[in-house]
Amino acid sequence: MKFCNNCLTPDLAKDQNSINIIKQEYLKDDCPWFLGYSGGKDSSALLKLVIIALSELNSFHKEITVIYCDTGVENPVITKYVYQTFESLKAECTGLGLPIKYIIAIPKLDDRFFVKVIGRGYPTPTNIFRWCTDKLRINPVKQIIDSYPKATVLLGIRKGESEQRDRAISKHSKTEYYLTQSGSKKNQIFSPIIYHSIKDVWSTLKFNSLPKSIDTQKLGELYKDAGSECPVYRELPGKSCRSSRFGCWTCTVVRKDKSISKMIENGYSQLTHLHEFRNWVAEFRDNPKYRCNQRRNGQKGLGPITLEGRKIILEKLLEVESKSNTVLIQKEELVRIKELWQKDIDNPNYIENTPFNNVFST
Ligand code: SF4
Repeated sequence: MKFCNNCLTPDLAKDQNSINIIKQEYLKDDCPWFLGYSGGKDSSALLKLVIIALSELNSFHKEITVIYCDTGVENPVITKYVYQTFESLKAECTGLGLPIKYIIAIPKLDDRFFVKVIGRGYPTPTNIFRWCTDKLRINPVKQIIDSYPKATVLLGIRKGESEQRDRAISKHSKTEYYLTQSGSKKNQIFSPIIYHSIKDVWSTLKFNSLPKSIDTQKLGELYKDAGSECPVYRELPGKSCRSSRFGCWTCTVVRKDKSISKMIENGYSQLTHLHEFRNWVAEFRDNPKYRCNQRRNGQKGLGPITLEGRKIILEKLLEVESKSNTVLIQKEELVRIKELWQKDIDNPNYIENTPFNNVFST
């Protein structure tokens, strides 16, 4: 559904019900709360309701931590929006005296997208080899949450998003559908907007004035041009990004990235070079000329991208970085990539189809 300013009517009863449940659950125990925020419509609506609920309480006995995961390859238009929103939310919540903390999680250096692809020679992700979701999105958030013995994780998940998800919710739910047990068993998932439809979510965003920092109009514009969002926490077994488009600009899991094409059509011309790179690398990764014919475990089969192939990808990426005037890779990632290349050069078990020492120099 697209955001339409004039075709929404407020369902205040549904929102009030969620607000009441949030207050009731908050007051119930001392278990710390973490809210997974992606910048998308569902987690934004959830955050809105949590802020309203807290502002209706007189005292607070625990902090709520809002976590956004910056994979390092987020769509830069969305990242800019999220960082600005985060800064503004911080100031607004402090002003309101609410105990809400905002954290940005990042993947470990060795798990970052380009360290894996250019440093280690991973092919960019596909439906069959989707190595990215846990490494880039789930683990950085999980690491923060798992440092606590027990936690309640608030997520903007909704029934009716897919049959598979509904089945999983029913299977893992306690008596109230608002609470489900997480895979790790020690944490529970709390989904106050589980009964909201997409229309309800937009209505929540539009008709609640608090917090002012979430710009519903801007979010609506981004959705007009983009689509759904990637998960921020592995809340139910089997869930992954699939065709989620509020995610990485480098995503090659889907054949065509229609959302970025749409954003470019709608004026975000700065994404053009990134989109071209993404399309190019999706083909390049399958070129057998640049793939080892042995896997790292020694088995025969399509192996890592060769050192020459990785070097070509890096050169192309740096070219795109300069053309688009956008930082696409961090200095520390470049350093790590060079270290990983050297490790492969020195590793007698790393075998390419042709000797690389003559054609490759770092
Ligand atoms: S958006 Fe694509 S590349 Fe990014 S984590 Fe999700 S599936 Fe992987």
